Amino acid sequence: MAKMMWRCSVCGDIHYGNKPPEICPTCGAADAFVLTDFDEAMKIIGRRTGPLDSKEKVVASWKDFAERNGAILLTESDEEIDMLCSGVLENLRNKGFRYCPCRIPSGNQLKDQALICPCNFMKQKNWGELGECWCGLFRKKEGRS
Ligand code: SF4
Repeated sequence: MAKMMWRCSVCGDIHYGNKPPEICPTCGAADAFVLTDFDEAMKIIGRRTGPLDSKEKVVASWKDFAERNGAILLTESDEEIDMLCSGVLENLRNKGFRYCPCRIPSGNQLKDQALICPCNFMKQKNWGELGECWCGLFRKKEGRS
């Protein structure tokens, strides 16, 4: 069954999956999810977070992500961060989303969500074998599997 987007009718939480959660993980409402679509979900999420459309905001989001996750580190190379952030922001301007600068979106928005940085790199082969994401922006903390 194809995955779909769901919106909690109580708090607006967005869920992407084969079926909606019985209990909303954000507000705790029961059986409150209704089918939504990509554009509606993006409008809701965008209104809540504001655009990540500058180098300062994107790098801050990467740092926050790495700090909250005990298993990963952001590269210490400012040059790499600058280069990857420029690529991500160029993709935002030209393709509408902060896609990974190292990979080419297919044009299918739902499928391409997996390429929005940070992507699902922890599930990729590179992470298991080399201990870093495809572009080397994030790497595994020593001693963490
Ligand atoms: S491979 Fe690295 S740089 Fe590319 S989207 Fe994933 S996390 Fe971002």
